[in-house]
Amino acid sequence: MWSTNVTYTAILVAGSIILLMLALYTWFRRRTSITFPFVGLLAGAALYAFGYAWELASTRIEGMLTWTRVEYLGIVVIPIFWLMIATLFAGRSRWLSKPILAAMVGFSALTVVIIWTNPLHHLYHRSLSLSTAGPFPLLLTEKGVWFWMFQIYVNLALAIGTMMLISALIRSSAAYRKQAALMVCGALIPWLGYAAYAFGISPYGLDTGPFGLILIGPLFALGLFRFRLLDLVPVARDAVFLGMTEGVIVLDDANRVIDCNPAARRLFPGLGSNAVGHPISEVLKRYPAACGLLNRSAEPGAEIGIEIDGRLRYYQVRLSPIRNRRGRVICRALSFGDSTEQTVLRKRLSSLASTDELTGAANRRAFLEQGRREIARAKRSGHALSLIIIDLDHFKAINDRWGHAAGDAALVEACRRFKSGLRAGDTLGRHGGEEFAILLPETPPDQAVQAAERLRAALASESLPIGEAKPVNLTASFGVAGIARVSEETIEILVRAADQAMYDAKAAGRDCVRAADGIVSPAF
Ligand code: GH3
Ligand code: MG
Ligand code: MG
Repeated sequence: MWSTNVTYTAILVAGSIILLMLALYTWFRRRTSITFPFVGLLAGAALYAFGYAWELASTRIEGMLTWTRVEYLGIVVIPIFWLMIATLFAGRSRWLSKPILAAMVGFSALTVVIIWTNPLHHLYHRSLSLSTAGPFPLLLTEKGVWFWMFQIYVNLALAIGTMMLISALIRSSAAYRKQAALMVCGALIPWLGYAAYAFGISPYGLDTGPFGLILIGPLFALGLFRFRLLDLVPVARDAVFLGMTEGVIVLDDANRVIDCNPAARRLFPGLGSNAVGHPISEVLKRYPAACGLLNRSAEPGAEIGIEIDGRLRYYQVRLSPIRNRRGRVICRALSFGDSTEQTVLRKRLSSLASTDELTGAANRRAFLEQGRREIARAKRSGHALSLIIIDLDHFKAINDRWGHAAGDAALVEACRRFKSGLRAGDTLGRHGGEEFAILLPETPPDQAVQAAERLRAALASESLPIGEAKPVNLTASFGVAGIARVSEETIEILVRAADQAMYDAKAAGRDCVRAADGIVSPAF
């Protein structure tokens, strides 16, 4: 005779076979971090449904009890795998720490032991009886203490996991939303079925849990094949996004923050957990170069400097559209690649090309370039410009007496003294071996002479430490040339005039300042 329970058994057996096939299919596909708990959940659900199918088919209490014990082997793993999936999906796998996981495994294992040894203590089922009130015989149980403990445990795990998924659903971009919604539905259906049974509101006391669970079969099949549930989430988010060293901020079409990875959070402390939904311009307000990329006012490949632990680091900023499979742009990713090494090297190379290695002053080429720029500027503004040439006196004698290294040390020290006597806008250059030149913008000749006099006094007043040898007295001869109002002059004319004045200073007995006669003109 074909009775109702045979129908239920058939549905549950078919459902458990589908779940098992899905589990196998998932297992032999490309592995991701979510594969193991996903397969575990499907297998647990399959075992539960399969066991219940045969419990329903049994007519005797002993057979029913045996199948109950089998079912629980499946039931107890569900909360564990469910939480693993939910935390992975919501990007909070660290929450499910080893101690929590161990506690859950322990509790589940203990529950199995208690169920299998129930006749000894009746902790789980206080009593068992056969109900014949419905259309077919059903096992009726009087619930014991551990039953309720286990309900609290299962429902707590399901609730926490579902809450994590719902919060991920709220936070997630269009790309993840369908998957998250599917997962939440997938959790709610069997949960409602399970709760209906646990609280005694299911028809005839039938366990509705397994019926709900076999529904996740088709639901997850839809997720797998239609929405690429397992492809997109763990691969894109966990492995790549969270682990990458490049900082990434995902933006919606109104340039609000949708998501960001830990690397981005390290760069911008403003990107806390509550940054989601806020305009990116707020987070990056100190970095106009990065903001400019968003409204295309900045060049692609903009670079920003961020101070991290007191050290300046450089980041190349890129904005890339993220498209879905149909090619529609669903969001944009702002990425920050560390370019410190290249940038520091580039800056070093450019500084090497323009500075004198020994003294750190501008080299001759850079000095003359700066001179040309200053002349042009002075021409436009009609301001004054002056130049001082300095040649150290009897420098050969220092080399001869103390050696070349001591001579080098003296050059460095002299340069340091000149530099400390200058204004911020002045440029000091090493013009030749032991010759220096100084460019003084917006300075008329008479003030430049005073500046030269100060430098001369600063050098001559105190002997110079030169390494091991005892300090030496060093003086220099200064030639000054200046233009009160720059018009047609060139830097070369100015250098020549200052050089001539410097020779005048040498001729006058050294350790003195001489100025070029009058205003330097092209005819000079
Ligand atoms: P004067 O007062 O006439 O300028 O005498 P001087 O000895 O300085 O004469 P001169 O300008 O002809 O000689 C410059 C000397 O500076 C020659 C060279 O040995 C020395 N010199 C030039 N460049 C360097 C350098 O980079 N390091 C060292 N140690 N000495 C240098
Ligand atoms: Mg010289
Ligand atoms: Mg000299």
